[in-house]
Amino acid sequence: MRIELVTGDITTEHVDAIVNAANSSLLGGGGVDGAIHRKGGPEILAECRALRAGHYGGGLPVGQAVATTAGRLPARWVIHTVGPVYSASEDRAPLLRSCYTTSLAVAAGLGARSIAFPLISSGIYRWPKEDAVRQALTALRGESGGVEVARLVLFDEETHQVAENVYRAVVGS
Ligand code: ADP
Repeated sequence: MRIELVTGDITTEHVDAIVNAANSSLLGGGGVDGAIHRKGGPEILAECRALRAGHYGGGLPVGQAVATTAGRLPARWVIHTVGPVYSASEDRAPLLRSCYTTSLAVAAGLGARSIAFPLISSGIYRWPKEDAVRQALTALRGESGGVEVARLVLFDEETHQVAENVYRAVVGS
């Protein structure tokens, strides 16, 4: 699988699936989540509510992922995943990597060939950006299940530069 790093707004990505840094309620929030629901329209929230009424009555657990329509967004699906809140006293990195690997597995199950990720947990959940990129790239280097391209969408140029540096260290140039 090819890994790409870009600067941008994930809601404008033309890929099969975009990943939402959701919270476990699945009922919307700030950051990426707010932008996806605002631009994607009410169809996404309607499917999220249906998930809460069914299999995910207790909410979506941290590190897991579930797909809905992408509504009016250019992508076909939104894959909602819940990142861990950063903790300095507890290592939650396996859960953060699980967000990437389970989202990728859900995408592969849908037959997606391309997927775009935000830098999960690095906003409201306060994960330090450099390590968030390290966890993302480490997770994405594993089994891709048929997905050909994974794009990590960084929201600003400064984070993109940090990501390029981590990429060289983790993946090589
Ligand atoms: P979390 O709650 O998992 O920390 P956030 O949505 O608060 O998720 O932030 C995750 C990252 O996504 C942050 O680095 C933030 O700057 C970035 N971000 C916010 N909005 C967008 C967007 N529309 N497209 C891409 N990245 C975004």
